[in-house]
Amino acid sequence: MQTETTPHEAQEIDGTQDVQSRNGKHAGLLDALRQEVAKGFLDAHSRAGKNAAKSLEIASFCYALIELLEKKGLITFEELDDLQQVVRKRQVKKFAEQGVGEIALQEFKQDKYTFDEVVEIDCENRVHLCRAACCRLELALSRQDIEEGIVKWDLGRPYLIARDADGYCRHLERGSCRCTVWEHRPIPCRGYDCRNDERIWLDFEKGVINPDLEKLLDQREEMTS
Ligand code: SF4
Ligand code: SF4
Repeated sequence: MQTETTPHEAQEIDGTQDVQSRNGKHAGLLDALRQEVAKGFLDAHSRAGKNAAKSLEIASFCYALIELLEKKGLITFEELDDLQQVVRKRQVKKFAEQGVGEIALQEFKQDKYTFDEVVEIDCENRVHLCRAACCRLELALSRQDIEEGIVKWDLGRPYLIARDADGYCRHLERGSCRCTVWEHRPIPCRGYDCRNDERIWLDFEKGVINPDLEKLLDQREEMTS
C-alpha cells in the first residue's frame, strides 16, 4: 500500500532535520572548542610539570649544600637567611628585566574605542598585492580585549591573538580578506601602519611587495605600530 506524507507530517520531518543539523553544528563547534581548551591545558600542564621537576632538583641541591656548609661550620643559618633576602630582591629585578615568566598582555591606558591614533589605509586597493600580510603578524591582546571576549586569543600562548594553521588571524575572512571583528579589533590593528614596514612593502606607493615576505612571516613577526 502506498502511503503519502501529509503537509503537516512533511513540516514535522523538515523541523526535525533542522534541529538535527543545528545540533550537529553545535556539537562540531563544541568539539573544536574542547580541542582548543585541551591544547591550552596540555601546554600549561607540561610547562608546569617541567618547571616543578627542575625546581625540585635545584632545591634538593641547594638544601644539601647548605646542610654540608653548616655542618662544616662555614656558615650559620642566620647569616644565610639575611643574605637570601638580598639575593631574592636582586633576582626578582633580573627576571623582570629579562621578561622571564612574562605573559604577553598589553596594558594600554587608552580605551580602544576612543583610540585617537587610528591609521587609515586604502586596503581595498592593496589587498590583492599584500594578501592582508598585516593579519599574519603576531600581536598581544589587552586586558580590555580579554575581558570583552570577542577577539580570540591563543590558549597555548596567552594572550597572543589566535591564528590558524595558515598563519592568519582567526578573525580574517579568507578570500575577501575582511576583518570580521573590525569594530572590536585590538589597538595594534588600529594603530599599525604598514606603509613604512619594509617587511611588507619595498615601496608602498608603487605597490612593490617585499619578495621575502613569506619567509619573514614564517618567522612569526610582530605587529609594531
Ligand atoms: S598590509 Fe597594509 S595594505 Fe595590506 S591589508 Fe594590511 S594594512 Fe592594508
Ligand atoms: S583582528 Fe582583524 S585587523 Fe586585526 S589581525 Fe585580526 S583580522 Fe586583522
